[in-house]
Amino acid sequence: MDIFSKIAAGEIPSYKCAENEEFYAFLDINPLVKGHTLVIPRREVDYIFDMDDDEIARFQQFAKRVAIAIKAAFPCIKVAEVVLGLEVPHAHIHLIPMQSESDVDFKREKLKLSPEEFQQIADKIYAEFQK
Ligand code: AMP
Repeated sequence: MDIFSKIAAGEIPSYKCAENEEFYAFLDINPLVKGHTLVIPRREVDYIFDMDDDEIARFQQFAKRVAIAIKAAFPCIKVAEVVLGLEVPHAHIHLIPMQSESDVDFKREKLKLSPEEFQQIADKIYAEFQK
């Protein structure tokens, strides 16, 4: 199992933001901004565009619901959706609450947050997702 499959299965800890039977969302451990979230399929698939049309549509619908929760928890101009996947070979969408273009500059220094701060952020998004 790859690392993100283990996270979705609860075998590796993560700061959970949202889930359903098919998809899982959790905080990026090296966040660009508070609320930077990763959305993944539970199924092991590396390249997002290897998903079939129905699965990618459901994935986007789930990501949209998570983005709405993020925006409610962390007011921003827009939530950016970014797909890279160069580091972890398991399809994932980055959702990043954005106040300016620099918030989505992956080369910039990442935030250093305490476990308590990560937990508070995840709880806030999770609460919005449940509404
Ligand atoms: P990329 O594959 O280029 O989209 O980058 C993978 C992203 O996953 C990076 O932003 C990492 O900080 C993040 N990441 C890697 N391992 C973990 C983990 N165990 N928990 C949360 N985020 C992770």
